[in-house]
Amino acid sequence: MAQCAGKTQRGDRCKRDAREGSGFCAIHQDQEVRPRADRSVEWDRDSMVKAAIGCALVVAIVFFRIRR
Ligand SMILES: [Zn+2]
Repeated sequence: MAQCAGKTQRGDRCKRDAREGSGFCAIHQDQEVRPRADRSVEWDRDSMVKAAIGCALVVAIVFFRIRR
């Protein structure tokens, strides 16, 4: 069995065996889930900024066409 990739509270590498299908033991399972949640929040913020820039571009193009 593979070794757990989690870290103990001291910051040392966990010496327990990882669970099957996971790189972490039962205690450090949450260390695998947490970074994924953070990434999805960042992606949402990034896509919202891109959507806002896209809307601003469309508004600017429409605005200049109306003025002509
Ligand atoms: Zn562990």
